Amino acid sequence: MGATLIVGMLCVHLLCFGAMFLLISARLRDKKMGMEVFAVGNLLLGSAYVLQLLGGPPGWNAMSVFNHTLTLCAPAVYWVGAMRFFGRPTRLWRPLVSMALAYTAAQMLVQWTLGSTARYAMLAGASALLFLAMTVTVVYGTRTFAKDLRGEMALFAILIGGILALNAMKFVIIVRDGLPALDMDSRFQTVFYLYMSFLATVLAPSLIWLVLRRLTDELRAMAAHDPLTRLLNRRGLVDGLQAHFRSRTAGPAHLLIVDIDHFKHINDTHGHKVGDTVLVHVADVLRNTARQADLASRVGGEEFVIVCLDTDAAGALRLANRMRTAIEHSQVAMPADPSSPILCTVTIGISEGFATAQDLDRATQEADAALYRGKHAGRNRVVRVGDAAPASPEIESAPLQAWPAN
Ligand code: GH3
Ligand code: MG
Ligand code: MG
Repeated sequence: MGATLIVGMLCVHLLCFGAMFLLISARLRDKKMGMEVFAVGNLLLGSAYVLQLLGGPPGWNAMSVFNHTLTLCAPAVYWVGAMRFFGRPTRLWRPLVSMALAYTAAQMLVQWTLGSTARYAMLAGASALLFLAMTVTVVYGTRTFAKDLRGEMALFAILIGGILALNAMKFVIIVRDGLPALDMDSRFQTVFYLYMSFLATVLAPSLIWLVLRRLTDELRAMAAHDPLTRLLNRRGLVDGLQAHFRSRTAGPAHLLIVDIDHFKHINDTHGHKVGDTVLVHVADVLRNTARQADLASRVGGEEFVIVCLDTDAAGALRLANRMRTAIEHSQVAMPADPSSPILCTVTIGISEGFATAQDLDRATQEADAALYRGKHAGRNRVVRVGDAAPASPEIESAPLQAWPAN
């Protein structure tokens, strides 16, 4: 009676959460994160338990065969859902139907050759193997595709490990004691379904938490980044700077303003779309030239701010020169006319060192003033706020660029 009641509650739980997963997946539209597949998994498992309640004592009948197939297919469906959650497009229906047909055929064969006990033992054994594969995948995920969700993955590994152990025990008990071991009033069955009920109670909200976490992480990232170049925006820059200066060991920072020379001319000559391509190109060069800890942002139309962290004035100057040279020597490929790539240059202003996030505005003004002098002095150069003469030695005579390469 106890286990029957638990299975009844489990059915209601699985089907209700299945409906909730379906509603969530409908809201998520283009990026369902596997929710629609988890709904199918819940529907299969919930239906399997309904069949178990209706089917009576264990034995050979069509309902039991169908029940076993659904019970085995459900974890495979959850596995597909997890793959999709981690952004790996995995097919569902064809492999699922093949698996269902193959397992139904295997049940017929085992029933015919070895009898009902072997068929029930086969379900417990096959489930144990499937859960073993899932546990291994989850543990592997903590080191690879799910590094950002280590805590959650560890919890899943423990929970799935539990159901793996229970299925392995069920297999041994069935082999040893035969079908009477599956009596719904037995202690083992009560413990088994109590654990299943616990699992369903914990896993469903955990999945919703994972989706919520992904969505909020994405929203936060969107709010902190420029959509065109994927660099930080001003808000992301301020957040990153505050995080840096919160550390007690944080060293001084220097701010670089990078402004594309004669960008208006590029827009006027080639159109706004090509102008955007140039912005993305310059952003990529800046990102690749900056050190990983530096903060690279786009703060205005064709203005970028780079904050070099934990560095002195000489280090900031070296970085600025590397950036200016890298951009000068790069070419922006034009898909419409590959033989005429666009060249562009930048002028860079550098602030004094600063040591708190509140100094950001002052540093911006300093770098801006230096940039202004660099523009006035002929562009394509690096100027520090304290420099007497705004010159970058190797480019004293550089003409303005922003013209096609040939
Ligand atoms: P200077 O060398 O003095 O910096 O000259 P400039 O032409 O680069 O500077 P100016 O500030 O006159 O022009 C900036 C231009 O950037 C004007 C604006 O049309 C363009 N712009 C601003 N935002 C975007 C954008 O998102 N995409 C594109 N394609 N152009 C933009
Ligand atoms: Mg500008
Ligand atoms: Mg400009």
